[in-house]
Amino acid sequence: MSASPPPASALPHVVIVGAGFAGLAAARALRKAPVRITIVDRRNHHLFQPLLYQVATAALNPADIAYPIRVVLRSQKNARTILARVDGIDLSTRTLRLRDGTLSFDYLLLATGATHSYFGQTDWEAWAPGLKTIEDALEIRRRVLSAFEAAERLPDDTKLLETLTFVVVGAGPTGVELAGALSEIGRLTVAKDFRRFDPTRLRVVLVEGADRVLPPYSHALSAEAQRELGRLGVEVRTNAKVTKIDATGVWLGDEHIVARTVLWAAGVAASPLGQQLGVPLDRAGRVLVEPDLSVPGHPHVFVAGDLVHFEQGGKPLPGIAPAALQAGRKAAKNIARLVAGRATEPFRYRDKGSLATIGRAAAVGNIGRFEVSGFFAWWMWWLIHIAYLIGFRNRLVVMIGWAWQYFAFSRGARLITGRAWEPSQGQLRR
Ligand SMILES: Cc1cc2nc3c(=O)[nH]c(=O)nc-3n(C[C@H](O)[C@H](O)[C@H](O)COP(=O)(O)OP(=O)(O)OC[C@H]3O[C@@H](n4cnc5c(N)ncnc54)[C@H](O)[C@@H]3O)c2cc1C
Repeated sequence: MSASPPPASALPHVVIVGAGFAGLAAARALRKAPVRITIVDRRNHHLFQPLLYQVATAALNPADIAYPIRVVLRSQKNARTILARVDGIDLSTRTLRLRDGTLSFDYLLLATGATHSYFGQTDWEAWAPGLKTIEDALEIRRRVLSAFEAAERLPDDTKLLETLTFVVVGAGPTGVELAGALSEIGRLTVAKDFRRFDPTRLRVVLVEGADRVLPPYSHALSAEAQRELGRLGVEVRTNAKVTKIDATGVWLGDEHIVARTVLWAAGVAASPLGQQLGVPLDRAGRVLVEPDLSVPGHPHVFVAGDLVHFEQGGKPLPGIAPAALQAGRKAAKNIARLVAGRATEPFRYRDKGSLATIGRAAAVGNIGRFEVSGFFAWWMWWLIHIAYLIGFRNRLVVMIGWAWQYFAFSRGARLITGRAWEPSQGQLRR
């Protein structure tokens, strides 16, 4: 006679906080492990952040790039999903403090990602929203589309340039993607839709503190990206430090760029939940972990994704989706090993490369050891993003949306939700 399996309540309880790339990858990697998993997220959806700028620039709808966590884990019987915000962690009692209750764990994986940082200038956020959530993307879309509507209502051209000036701060991949897409909106998408003014007269300024765009890439790829941006009419300002942002625009020292719309793509700070662990953090608030991704002194607690500071080859891992996926899987495997009474293994990141897109048909980046650029790189970017999106419907809808955008020069999600935005409003707080 075979022994019956232990009741579910007797299995070790693994709590995963955050259902982003790292958290979901971990939950899936534990699907066959003899554990009970609870995945906690303050949102009910997993968000595919790499395509957020497409929602912000009216090419895609929010539901095209987000997927209910509960549906992702529907057929995984050892996992349940809780919609809740985690506010505190007590490692001594192995308890999480939720906004409305507590949750105890045997093993914990913290994967709450990152947020934007305004380098201590929190008042800039009202005038220059960042891009991290669907709400951020809809706010940016509202401001961008409202600028064109405001231009149509101007009595004359005196204020046309400032109304149609868009400043993007930060020329990393997100800033470059946003600047290219903004330029295309004016020059292609809405070019024929207004009567009183010519939308192709918009000005897009991309401001970067470093000496080149896309600093993580090689000098040759940065130069290629800058050429592409120039071709799209984007004005690139490198070695330019923003000293002030307000309702009238952006200051670079004494220079004032008068602009109705300013977008922030510059700084990143780790999720504040990392501070609750009471262990050393790096300057961006990321948790310094052991080689197996566990927290020093707490072998049953792991961290993965954008919240982790993990060095390999003398450099910290980049805050990108593949690093989060791989670390999430490794942390899960190490938890399964501990449950089985085995020693954990060190994490090793396999760099498969990364790509940044510039407008509707160009990209630059690395695939493995190779540098790629132009139309081929854009195709690779396209294929990879479709492959990693969750959900068949989302893949199909995004493919159709992009084909439509590519051939018809059109963007299918040109909706201003809520009131049209006026700089005097600042940002409506959520
Ligand atoms: C605009 C943008 C563009 C990007 N483009 C690319 C790209 O092209 N390629 C690429 O590889 N990477 C890109 N990235 C980076 C990539 O998205 C991140 O590296 C990745 O999302 C990190 O995964 P994660 O699991 O650590 O965190 P996230 O995916 O951010 O997930 C964190 C989860 O934790 C939840 N959470 C946070 N705090 C709490 C709390 N207190 N309680 C409960 N739940 C909480 C959040 O709701 C979220 O679901 C981009 C990021 C952004 C913002």
